[in-house]
Amino acid sequence: MRAMQHADFLSLWEKGRALHPLDQGLLAIHAAFPEATSIADWPLGQRNRALAELHCFYFGRALEGWTSCPHCGEKLEFKMDGRALAEQPPMPGHDPAKWASPKAKTPPSEATMK
Ligand SMILES: [Zn+2]
Repeated sequence: MRAMQHADFLSLWEKGRALHPLDQGLLAIHAAFPEATSIADWPLGQRNRALAELHCFYFGRALEGWTSCPHCGEKLEFKMDGRALAEQPPMPGHDPAKWASPKAKTPPSEATMK
């Protein structure tokens, strides 16, 4: 993971604020792991592990989230250990090529960060 400075985070915010959350994730991964290629083709679990690692390194291991109760719609907040998510191994027998999206597009970061 590349060491990111305050200016890098400001640049990420400026470039990512109008993007879809999935594209924001691709942008952040590309900024932190510039040697990585075809990030949009990564399995979702691999992308989420990279984002969890990035969050833990710069913002701490506590992740806060929320979901809605499927029965009444009430918002339920929860906390989890981001390190546990970052260190989650890929599922046994998982074939990344099998899950790559045929419509995967170039991460916005590759176009916007040059
Ligand atoms: Zn409920």
